[in-house]
Amino acid sequence: MDSRADETRGFTKIDPEIDEIDILWMTAGLGCDGDTIAMTGATQPSIEDIVTGALPWIPRVKFYNPFLAIENGDEFVRSFRDAAEGKSGRPFILVVEGSIPNETNKSEGYWASFGTDPVTGQPITTCEWIDRLAPKAWAIIAAGTCATYGGIHAMEGNPTGCMGLADYLGWKWKSQAQIPIVCVPGCPVQPDNMMETVLYLLYMAKGRAPMIPLDEALRPTWLFGSTLHEGCDRGGYYEQGEFAEEYGSPLCIVKLGCWGPVVQCNVGKRGWMAGIGGCPNVGGICIGCTMPGFPDKFMPFMNQPPGSLLSSQAVQTYGRAIHALRRFTQASLNKEPNWRNRSRVPRSV
Ligand code: SF4
Ligand code: SF4
Ligand code: SF4
Repeated sequence: MDSRADETRGFTKIDPEIDEIDILWMTAGLGCDGDTIAMTGATQPSIEDIVTGALPWIPRVKFYNPFLAIENGDEFVRSFRDAAEGKSGRPFILVVEGSIPNETNKSEGYWASFGTDPVTGQPITTCEWIDRLAPKAWAIIAAGTCATYGGIHAMEGNPTGCMGLADYLGWKWKSQAQIPIVCVPGCPVQPDNMMETVLYLLYMAKGRAPMIPLDEALRPTWLFGSTLHEGCDRGGYYEQGEFAEEYGSPLCIVKLGCWGPVVQCNVGKRGWMAGIGGCPNVGGICIGCTMPGFPDKFMPFMNQPPGSLLSSQAVQTYGRAIHALRRFTQASLNKEPNWRNRSRVPRSV
């Protein structure tokens, strides 16, 4: 599709505006369906908000996900087949969940598939689906860390040779609407991060939003621009050098293995569902699941990150001194000013 500059809003608008769009969500990568399950807890917006058209300025949406669909078997696969053959007549957003196996690294068999070929009766591999659907997709979202960067399944030594979608299609790949692959990592993906990204693309489809801003790892910048540490509930304890030595403590958990100071993730601020939860908020160390280097570069998980050894020691020295000084100030602030004390005011005045 061509684009044209929209003078009134100052951004490039997809032309023509889209009134109806399909979301084709494949869970046929190597994964656990955890991102689909997480998404059912989204509230900002919810799936229901999107599919019932409860939000203004978005196209009508038909949503196909094998976990949520009433249809099954061939009846469910038909919508994907129609899209691959260009028969549906509607643009579609392809959502890929799970990592993409290397189907060329063995002499027989396959690693992952979805549906069967009606002519041969043979399984259709996940890679074949991606090869057929990606060139026709209006946009593509990789949902969860497996689909974005390979995730747990792509650990060193995994025989499937699996990878993220950008490694499979190419990091410079662009959709029909000239949108790069949109990566929403997380294991699983934070529900509202996922649905907010879907919503953003739907606004784009309606010409109501500029090109989605992505960082060098193809993550939406407004969601992944800050570190977990920068928005963490426990940041005050870190600054004062107060570190937990065991689980169950409200103090900073960096010595228990939290990677928050260097990991780009917003769950400290956003929570998990409806603002509640989020790893460090509920005592869980951050193991870096939104990062392309996950999991290999963060292991072993329960050890203190090597880079934090020096910084936490420095903070401990400075933070404890500052904390002691603050206690003096705090003690003073916990007393009313002298002039409010009636016993000090001469009764004759
Ligand atoms: Fe499951 Fe995590 Fe992979 Fe999502 S990213 S499919 S939750 S293992
Ligand atoms: Fe930073 Fe983790 Fe400590 Fe939170 S718990 S302040 S993210 S190191
Ligand atoms: Fe993943 Fe860390 Fe964010 Fe938890 S806080 S979701 S482990 S990146």
